[in-house]
Amino acid sequence: MLDQTPKEIFERTALRVNPCKTCQPVGALFAALGVKRCMPHSHGSQGCVSYHRTFLTRHFKEPAIASSSSFTEGASVFGGGANLTASVKNIFDVYDPDIIAVHTTCLSETIGDDLNSFIMELELPDDKLVVHCNTPSYVGSHVNGFANMTAGFIKYLADRRAPKSGRVGFFPGFVNPGDLREYKRLMGLMGTEYVMLPDHTGVLDAPMTGTYRMFPDAGTEIDDIRALGGVRAALAMGPFASTEPALALKAKCGVDSSIMPLPFGVSGTDSFLMKLSELSGNPVPKELEDERGRLVDLMLDANPYFYGKTCAVFGDPDTVVGITSLALELGMLPKYVITGTPGEAFVEAAGRLLEAYDARQGAKIKAAADLFELHQWIKNEKVDLLIGSSYAKQIAKAEDIPFVRAGFPVLDRYGHAYQPLIGYQGSLLLAGRIADAIMDRLDRDCADEDLELVL
Ligand code: SF4
Repeated sequence: MLDQTPKEIFERTALRVNPCKTCQPVGALFAALGVKRCMPHSHGSQGCVSYHRTFLTRHFKEPAIASSSSFTEGASVFGGGANLTASVKNIFDVYDPDIIAVHTTCLSETIGDDLNSFIMELELPDDKLVVHCNTPSYVGSHVNGFANMTAGFIKYLADRRAPKSGRVGFFPGFVNPGDLREYKRLMGLMGTEYVMLPDHTGVLDAPMTGTYRMFPDAGTEIDDIRALGGVRAALAMGPFASTEPALALKAKCGVDSSIMPLPFGVSGTDSFLMKLSELSGNPVPKELEDERGRLVDLMLDANPYFYGKTCAVFGDPDTVVGITSLALELGMLPKYVITGTPGEAFVEAAGRLLEAYDARQGAKIKAAADLFELHQWIKNEKVDLLIGSSYAKQIAKAEDIPFVRAGFPVLDRYGHAYQPLIGYQGSLLLAGRIADAIMDRLDRDCADEDLELVL
């Protein structure tokens, strides 16, 4: 399908082909789904929200609810204030959420709708709330939209007069429910009490009960978002996804945050647990020491298969930095490291990692990149493995390269949203998948007499 991708690379400034990202509202909608009894609302045309919902539904294999201001030509010319007022009334009347989280779209941003004043003028039923954030899709990516919506909840709701508590504010980053469950397990074992925002467990990995519930009994409680104003500190995981909420909490309530990379691999998880230990005063329990030991054991056992293998890592910036750090710990050489999200901080973070392993020379790192260019690099100099979202499937086929799906989105496989990538356990799972892909290829290509059961 992509066999005709040319090897010659031309500098492009305006055009992206097979982008390694999607638009801001997808991330805003995702963040809003992690708040209990919240209806995400797209202030724009129906076509936008159909795309955003479909995108999330395909990744999570769960219904991603959202409503729309349903712009037509009139709203596009005269502004969408009347549409928002009617939408909010209808949503509370028909679906009865506790809160509506409004995000903008390209159209409402371009015509300059002032959501602050629209929302101030709304007449809301008792105990009902509306919050918003701006998500212009011609800048940034879904990761920025996620960060903006999470920060939006804090700007509207976090209460600086909330009673002081020993809890920690926890911004988990743009990760799957499987990762959130792993975070919770790790924080439970470390004796850390927390308020997690957003929390998709039980929402986007809800069990099949035979009865559909538009608002599952899950997600971050509104009172807990208010209580973020009284936490003693916050942990913001993944600088791209969590810096905005950390800054919002500092600005509104004076709470300091530690901004950390996602805890991938041995060193990433070590740092995360040491931070939890510092916050809770509790030592790392033996159970987690043993998990660490098992991950190191796998790394050593399979080292001959990992060592020196080149790979391309692509996807969301925080996840890509995490996978790159795990790949380096495994002894692999991340040759191409890209994200579609703009931001030189990505290039710096990935560059520091590669330098620490003396692997910077010859490697290409790029933000605001696309998969077409990655394909061109691969055409010129092949790698042994691709690690990233489903969108490289055609590249893997065209170039006959083993492919490990990891991150967001994984549209063409099942179970990924349930499985963690973070922590020792998640890293063990991902390292196992990488080893499987490398060894499956060896089995496929070897002579019959070399097809051994024991390797
Ligand atoms: S018009 Fe903008 S907000 Fe709507 S789907 Fe396209 S990029 Fe996203």
